[in-house]
Order: sequence, then structure tokens, then C-alpha cells
Amino acid sequence: MNRLIITFLLALSFIQMVLPLNVFAETEASKEDLLKQRMSLYVQFEDMLVPWYFLAAIDQYERNIQAVRKDIPSREGVVAIRFSDEYWAGPFNPLIQDNSPTTIDYFGGMGLDGDKDGVADAENDIDIIYTMASYLSHYGPSEADFKKALWDYYTNETIVNQVLAIASLYKKYQDINLEQYTFPVALGYNYTFKGTWGANRGWGGRRIHEGTDIFADYGTPVLSASYGVVVTKGWNKFGGWRIGIRDHHNSYHYYAHLSSYAKGIEVGDIVKPGTVIGYVGSSGYGSEGTSGKFPPHLHYGIYKFNGRYEWAYDPYPSLLQWERTAKAQLKKN
Ligand SMILES: [Zn+2]
Repeated sequence: MNRLIITFLLALSFIQMVLPLNVFAETEASKEDLLKQRMSLYVQFEDMLVPWYFLAAIDQYERNIQAVRKDIPSREGVVAIRFSDEYWAGPFNPLIQDNSPTTIDYFGGMGLDGDKDGVADAENDIDIIYTMASYLSHYGPSEADFKKALWDYYTNETIVNQVLAIASLYKKYQDINLEQYTFPVALGYNYTFKGTWGANRGWGGRRIHEGTDIFADYGTPVLSASYGVVVTKGWNKFGGWRIGIRDHHNSYHYYAHLSSYAKGIEVGDIVKPGTVIGYVGSSGYGSEGTSGKFPPHLHYGIYKFNGRYEWAYDPYPSLLQWERTAKAQLKKN
């Protein structure tokens, strides 16, 4: 990595710290700048044989949970990864916030000096990324190595799977800019929907309605709303034939009551906004194959994972927004 570029990046992150956050958050151009800065941090340690999308996936996962967890402060930097003091300085280091590479190493700490300024700074983006790259490089460059490294780091299956899903998306599209969504029912077909969050369900006892019903005719194409990895497919007594897709924001998108699936779609497939995943139906509310107990519709739900558990949130506002974007897109073409 060129020294000049590093200086430039440092200057940029300094400017961001000094200016009020909203100045930067508002424009599209600044978002793109931020993504470029992130990308340049991920790729700069590629000679350690750590694919950039492994680092990017961990960083994105950390950013996702910081956005929804009150007990974890959001990191004000280009990268979101943060290490605990014990991890960084070493569990027996008397200096809790030690930044000397020599004594950190002596006390078994993991913190490293990535930008070679003589200081292993737990708040420095380059030192953080270098430390994570070094950790991953001890396991090796393959996906199996990465999985093992994630297991040891997070010791939680859901977290490991979420990070792996993000990594596979970044790898497939060779990009971290996947902020595009669409309405999950193909435009040009008849459909109606309204906010029904929390309404009582007709079947299955006292469960509230966690999602939005989009009523449409049998066979109307159902589209993936987001980039994501197909992680669930098959029968569920409530949802009938359903598909579950995990995206890079720790969200699980749930599409239920399908009449059939798109040809060839399988668990593990990667989809993008607009990929046909199945067709509207009225399956569910009974044993496998039950259909016709209610008018055909797509039940669409979103569940967010915060690193500990998953909860449903109302997708209706997003659906309205995605419908507007999809309509505007249609006009342009
Ligand atoms: Zn529903």
C-alpha cells in the first residue's frame, strides 16, 4: 500500500470525525466515498492471503449489530470492527489500553501495528483491519479455514452463518455496494396490500401477524426484494411452501404461501433484487400440500438478527418505498 494513499485515507477519516456526521451522511457521493475507503482498507492486506470479502463480511456483520444493539456503541470510523481491551492488549496486561506492540505481544495480546507508526492503536482503522487479517491468516485462505476462524472468534452458529452469507454475496458480486431493493411482487400484475402488522391470525392459535400480505392472483411472480442467500426452502405448516433469504444487513426475508418455486432455485443459491424465486399461491395452514384455505397472497416478513436473537419488524414502510422505486424504475425503462 502506497504511503501517500494511507495518508490520504487518514486525512479523510479525520475530516469525517471533525465535521458533523450529517454533512457526510446526506449525499450519495459521500456514501460512495465511504464505501471506497472501506474497500481500500480491505484489499490492502491481500498479500497476507486473506480474501478481502472475508474482512469485509466480518466488518459488515459488526456494523449491522452496532446499528441495532444499545449495549454495543457504534464505532465512529471507516470500519466497524472493534476488539475488547483484553483481546487487544492481552488478558494479563496491567495496562488495559496498552498500545505498545512489544508489551502487547509480551502479554499475549492480539493488537498489531498495521500502518507501521510504532503504535498498535485499537482505534485505528488500519491497525484494526491488519489485526483481523493477521488472525484470519493463521487459519488459511479457504472458506473452510474462514469458517473455522469464525467459529473460534464468535462461538455461535447463527453468527457464523450470517457472516458466511455476507462473504458469499461480496465474493459473488465483487462489491460491497449492494444497497438496492425492489418490491417483491412483479409490477404489471394486479396486487393490493396494506399495513396489517400485529393483526390477529385466522389459524394456529394466538399468534400475531408478523408481516405484510400482498394479495395477488395465483401464479404472479414473487421476486427477491434484496441481495441474499437462499437459506430455507420447503414446507412449513403455517407458511406452506416458503423461501427464506438472508441478506448482508443481518435480515432474513420470509416469503410464504407460494403455489410453486422458481425452476431450479435451491438452498445456497445467491439472488439479487428482482430474481424470481416463486409464484403467489395459498399454500399452508395444514399438512404438506394444503392449499386454498384463504385467498392467494404473498406473505412477506423480515426478521433482524442482532447477534443474540432474531425479531420481526414491520416491513410495510419498506414495501411502500420499494414499490415507489420499482415504479420509477419501470417508467425510466
Ligand atoms: Zn400474512
